[in-house]
Amino acid sequence: MIPARVIEAKRDGEALDAGLLADFLRAYVRGEVPDYQMAAFLMAAYLNGLDDDETEVLVRCMLESGDTLDLSHLPGPRVGKHSTGGVGDKVSLALVPLVAACGVFVPMISGRGLAHTGGTLDKLEAIPGFQTELSLARFKKVLEEVGCAVVGQTTEIAPLDRRLYALRDVTGTVSAPPLIAASIMSKKLAEGLDGLLLDVKVGSGAFIPGEGGASELAETMVKIGRGQGLPTVALLTAMDRPLGNAVGVGLETAEAIRCLRGQGPPDLTELVLIEAAEMVCLADAGATAIEARDRAEAMLSSGAALDRLVRLVEAQGGDTTVVDEPERLATAREKMEVEAQDGGVVVEVRPRVLGEGVIALGGGRVLMHQPIDPGVGFELYVSPGDVVVRGEPIGVVHATDPEGARLGAEVLSRAVRVGRPGDPVVRRELVSRRIDGRTE
Ligand code: URA
Repeated sequence: MIPARVIEAKRDGEALDAGLLADFLRAYVRGEVPDYQMAAFLMAAYLNGLDDDETEVLVRCMLESGDTLDLSHLPGPRVGKHSTGGVGDKVSLALVPLVAACGVFVPMISGRGLAHTGGTLDKLEAIPGFQTELSLARFKKVLEEVGCAVVGQTTEIAPLDRRLYALRDVTGTVSAPPLIAASIMSKKLAEGLDGLLLDVKVGSGAFIPGEGGASELAETMVKIGRGQGLPTVALLTAMDRPLGNAVGVGLETAEAIRCLRGQGPPDLTELVLIEAAEMVCLADAGATAIEARDRAEAMLSSGAALDRLVRLVEAQGGDTTVVDEPERLATAREKMEVEAQDGGVVVEVRPRVLGEGVIALGGGRVLMHQPIDPGVGFELYVSPGDVVVRGEPIGVVHATDPEGARLGAEVLSRAVRVGRPGDPVVRRELVSRRIDGRTE
């Protein structure tokens, strides 16, 4: 195998022989192909794509480069979930304990915030004491005892993906559907799951905003799941606006807790219930969609899901009292209400502006490993389609100081676009497409 020939073939749009591609990737893992050649290959793959066979080889090499979790000792089905990332997306925080309360084991390997999107690990760490770096033995113990556990990616899981992701991040090659699909699925396949639910975001706040690209990403991931024998369902969900009303690490954690207390915003609660029902069906092939939804609603309204969250927080070292008092997670010193500058109809709430605003306030990262302030962010009072009058409050900024509050107020005013009656409103369906790898 001559690395330059593999790069040239991909550059010229040729389909690569599976054996040749695997040799190239394995040589990179062994350190025999340098980063500059792999970066050239990734750019060729970004521009010309990877076909299904090439994507499958990439996934297999990523998987075999590390360990696979063996969770077969658990006395029940294990179902995972992954979101491609968005603004205000705190679904996992409520979903994981809810699905565990439904009798399904949920082992969750999650990520941190990436670019303008927030990450589940950062949100859980807003709870004082909550540990997301657990040994494998501790992770398994929490899973056994609570039915769910949430940790960060270890160095043993898909190390080839870690290295490729770091290269892609600095070479402008992140947002290609086959590369993202292989990256996500290699990690999920290493989790030892019986089923997987994918929440693929679509809209201006998503990494791949367009419907076509998001569909391609979802279809590719479902196909990979099918090829590897992992029952997989993908939902295309709205990210043309933030999900729920809170944007910012601690504020989102508080909103997810409120959702489990029955006081969540309707869009968040609905998406959590839809996803919980899908995961119950993935765990129990005999359950109908209606039965699964009923089970999820019962666990939410009875308080069983909230109780499961308390057990999860306790098992991972967190302060459980915040579950009773989620408002304690809003720790920023300055709060400034922002008023509508014009009257009319809210035609758009731009998620990317708010996500980038959280970073500007110190609640997200510009550099890897940077500490973040979990208290800052935005609470929204309006969503697309609402009518507002001039001077009416549209939301609140949470900031560390008056300068941050002023900056946040400017961001919030820019994010909420007010138009005239009759102007088109940017508001996608909450779930616009469902792809079921078991039947399609
Ligand atoms: N998340 C991942 O895990 N990988 C990607 O390539 C993009 C988002």
